[in-house]
Parts: sequence; structure tokens; C-alpha cells
Amino acid sequence: IEIFEKAKGMIPGGVEHNLSQNKPFPLAMDRAKGYKIWDVDGNEYIDYLMCGAPIMLGHGYEPLDEKIIEIIRKKGPATGLTSEYELLAAEEIIKNMPGVEMVRFLQSGTEADMAALRIARAYTGKLKIIKIGGSYHGWSDQMIYSVHVPQTYNLEAKGIPAECFAHIVDVTPNDFEGLEKAFKDNEDKGGVAGVMVEPIGGESGAHPVHPDWNKTIRRLCDQYGTLMIFDEVVTGFRLNMGGAQKLYNIIPDLTVLGKIITHGYPSSGAVAGKKEIMKTCAGSIGEKVFVGGTLAANPISMAACYYALKYMEENKAVEKATTYAEKLTKALNDLFATRPDLGFFVYNFGAIMHYMTTAFFSVDLKAPDALMQIFSRKEVADNYQIVTMAHGLCTLAGTRMYTCMQHDDEALKKTLAIWEYVLSLIPRS
Ligand code: PMP
Repeated sequence: IEIFEKAKGMIPGGVEHNLSQNKPFPLAMDRAKGYKIWDVDGNEYIDYLMCGAPIMLGHGYEPLDEKIIEIIRKKGPATGLTSEYELLAAEEIIKNMPGVEMVRFLQSGTEADMAALRIARAYTGKLKIIKIGGSYHGWSDQMIYSVHVPQTYNLEAKGIPAECFAHIVDVTPNDFEGLEKAFKDNEDKGGVAGVMVEPIGGESGAHPVHPDWNKTIRRLCDQYGTLMIFDEVVTGFRLNMGGAQKLYNIIPDLTVLGKIITHGYPSSGAVAGKKEIMKTCAGSIGEKVFVGGTLAANPISMAACYYALKYMEENKAVEKATTYAEKLTKALNDLFATRPDLGFFVYNFGAIMHYMTTAFFSVDLKAPDALMQIFSRKEVADNYQIVTMAHGLCTLAGTRMYTCMQHDDEALKKTLAIWEYVLSLIPRS
């Protein structure tokens, strides 16, 4: 509380981080190790936030940290010029991801998504971008449209001129007819340059998509000369070392990466794809797409990328985190089944778990009071999150859990015990 009270005077809202659980006040964290984190008062939490997805090896993975410390000591953090780690990092990504032949590193997922839009328009010479409702592609002007919940349009677009959305075409997930219509109707309005896709559905799978959804997008992109852009900021190197594209065998034209590629070290973003398309980022002035960043591809981020991916591969980090997530999903569903009056449930995409208490993402948008329902359900979900956090579980937004390779049977036992206790506090109806 003390830190929050001070922070409020200097930092708007008292928090910088959009992942912060800030009701009734945000917790200030002191340190992290393995699957555990500790707040400044010394309280211990089982961490399922994993920094918002980047951590797969566990917090403070020593072999990785040692490499970075060595670079800082011996070489310094950045020169603004190319380093060998840039090539090693690119090579590691190209080796793993089937749709990637070239990589351009940037400083965040948001930037990489922005670059992907620009490349798609420059390469195709077309204008429109289809954005699937409920998905998140960073906070740039064009992408804050129907975020979190489909059909909410400019609800969260305060400070963004309406003109920014002039060429954004909103399509509701799983609306196959609407999708095809969006391609067709925009043919003579500049054409569709790209479709932005979260491959497991919006908000990292909070809005799951029909098994044919991505295949249909791929088919329509081919038919209309449009680039399919997979935003794999969360799924890349978490769902699979080859991303969703490898797991589902759907090869996008462009891939957006972030988070896991630097494993918690700063400056994490990349746009990648087929050579022919990525070459729009090269060439002389007037020919190339303008993307960049002072600290983009700095040696620390690039070494973090190279070594993190290497250690993940060597340790089978994705497989281990997935096995744990599957075990926990089953165990929690068994526990929740003892309270049918509550209707809580869990599902997972590999090492990405979603737990539903009030299921505010699933409100029927046709209901006249849909928005009110979403808000009130969200508030109740937040309250459940406060209680679980207070008893030692750190999750993302009270609906999501990311696992890492170090979560073990003890973590599972403790997680179940906390939930069992929290359930016992809720009166049976
Ligand atoms: N795309 C997706 C799918 C994301 O989940 C996020 C971040 N949560 C971003 C893009 C933006 O990445 P960053 O926060 O690094 O800008």
C-alpha cells in the first residue's frame, strides 16, 4: 500500500503495467525464482502470470542469466550496430518456424504488429486490414478496435481519431459468412492487404475458434491475394517451438513474435516471414517500408533470444510446461466438478490455460444487456482473482494461467489446495 500510495503521485494510476492486478491496490514484487514470486512484504506466490507469457524456463534461469551478465561485463549493452547475436537469434527462429525465412527485430509486439500491417499494405499494394474481434495486436492506433470483446468497436479507443479505423475491417470470430463478405465487399475499396490472426483465437484463446476458421482465412487470403498474418506473440515458442503454424500446419505469410523470444529480457518483438515479402523492409529510400528502433536487435536482447530458444529446445521446455498444464487442467476441472452450483471450468492450449469463473468473455453479444453483463461478470471475476491472489496464486486477469517447465507436483498440490480453500469460502447455492 505504501509503495502504491507514493506511486500514485508520480505514475498515472500508480501502475505502469497493464497486466497488474490493481484492485484494491497493485502488489509490488520483489523477486522471482523458478515458478515462485515474492512481494515486497515477503509473501510467496505460485506464479502463473509468467510475466504475461515470456517465461518458459522458469524465472531467473541461471545459465541464461549468466550469458547476459557476461555480455554486459565484457561487451557492453549496445552499439547501435549489428552484432553476431542478431544472426544467431534469427537463425534459431528460422530453424524452428516453418513460415519464417527472414526476421526483422523490433522492440515490442505492438511495434512488430504495426510493421506487419505496413509490410502487408506495401507488398500487396492493397489497403484494408481485416481484424478479428476480441483479439489483441498491441496498442497502436489502428489495432485498438474491438479489443478484448468482439463487436465493441471503438469502446476502448479514447484518444484515437476515428479516421485511424477507416481501413480496418472488423470481423466477428467464427462468422464464416461475414469473413468472406469482408473480402468480397472490399475488393473495389482498395482490396484486403492482410488479415491479422491470433491463431488460437482472440486474447490467446479466450475466444476459441472453429477448427476450420484459420484454414478458411488461409484459403480466402490465397484467393484474394491477401497476406495472412499470424500474431504468434504468445503462441510462438509457448504453444510449440514452431508456433501455432507448425502445430496446426497452416503457414502464414507473415509472423509476428514477441515475449518468449527474449524470455523476460527487454526489447522483445519481431516481424518475420517469407523472403520475398520481408524484402520490402530492405532497399533504398522510397523503396523500402520504414521500420526501425534505436535499441532494436541490441546484443542483450539478441543473445537472450538465441540462448533462451536454445535452452528451451535442450530442456524440452514446451513439452514440460504443456504436460503440467494438462495435468492441472484436469485436476482443477475435477475439483470444480465438486461445485456444480458454481459452473467454473478450465481449458488449455498447450502451456496456455484459461479458467472461467464468470466467463465474461462468453456473453452472448446479441443479448440487449450484453455490455452490462460483461462489466458485472468481470467485476465478480476480479473479486475471485483478489481472493486467489491473497491466498498465493498469481494469474493473468483472473482468467489465464501460463505454465513453465519448472512447475512441478508441489506447485500442483498447492494450487489445488488454494482453490479448494477458496471454493469452501463460497456458500453453496
Ligand atoms: N499480440 C499479442 C497476441 C499479445 O498478447 C500482445 C501482448 N499481450 C501483443 C501483441 C503486444 O505485445 P507487447 O506488449 O510486447 O507490445
